[in-house]
Amino acid sequence: MSPRYDLHSHSLHSDGTLTPTELVARAHAQGVAVLALTDHDVTDGIAEAAAAASSLGLELIPGVEISVTWQQQTIHIVGLGIDPGDQTLQAGLAGLREFRNKRAREIDRRLQKKRITGAYAGAAGLAQGAILSRTHFARFLVSQGYAGNMQQAFKRFLTRGKPGYVPGCWATLEQAVGWIHGAGGLSVIAHPARYRLSAGKLRKLLGAFKDCGGAAIEVISGSRHVEENNHLARLASEFGLLASVGSDFHGPNGHDAVGTSPAKQKGKPWAELGGLPPLPAACTPVWQAW
Ligand code: AMP
Ligand code: MN
Ligand code: MN
Ligand code: MN
Repeated sequence: MSPRYDLHSHSLHSDGTLTPTELVARAHAQGVAVLALTDHDVTDGIAEAAAAASSLGLELIPGVEISVTWQQQTIHIVGLGIDPGDQTLQAGLAGLREFRNKRAREIDRRLQKKRITGAYAGAAGLAQGAILSRTHFARFLVSQGYAGNMQQAFKRFLTRGKPGYVPGCWATLEQAVGWIHGAGGLSVIAHPARYRLSAGKLRKLLGAFKDCGGAAIEVISGSRHVEENNHLARLASEFGLLASVGSDFHGPNGHDAVGTSPAKQKGKPWAELGGLPPLPAACTPVWQAW
């Protein structure tokens, strides 16, 4: 049997809920042999994760998930096998975090218009010095009773067209791919099905990504739709892209910082670390390139 790979996960350095050490221990317990830590726009958790991994005999791939704006859409590009010490990558990520802080102030201002006060302080308090993500705002909104669960908080307040939504102004596709490859990594389009692009627009994205030198797409990304995975596998082959596998794990309770009742969890819609189907046979796995 081939080792179990999970090449997309988060710690509390971005919007996950586990420390890097806890994340690595959980991956190990789930039978993951190769884990990538891919926090949003930050690499602060990698050193701790690598230390925990080496003591357990698990291979830790240093990674990052970069926020990109492409044709008015937010797209996530995962970088795998990056050197976190690369100056250009770090300068790029610092710029994205600066936008995150500005955006958080603006989210707060917009929520105040809806008579929701203290959102910035509340989200920042929950983030505890980590990057400020919409996930932290969603946790704040749930904790104050403005929404019954995380999905509802996003749907009512934080997605496009909703009162607390602020359009992204992230990196360009070229920048993200360039920073990742400049730092010795491989670039991967994260969860391609989650952007809800039309078939034509998705092909356009894959073409643009390929033109920038992009390397791979997540063919397996926590979706349980076999047909969707097979479709992404065919697109990967057609565009000459490698195939990656990642759960996008954020924590034992999904995006929730604390456990919700099983009824509210609606059957655990997120994937467990390593809990993914195998890559379709026709794919070339991204790890063949390292
Ligand atoms: P941000 O990068 O700060 O805009 O936050 C995006 C993060 O919010 C994603 O990485 C997800 O973890 C989370 N997220 C986005 N949409 C939803 C949703 N509908 N329900 C729960 N979490 C979401
Ligand atoms: Mn996230
Ligand atoms: Mn993502
Ligand atoms: Mn992610």
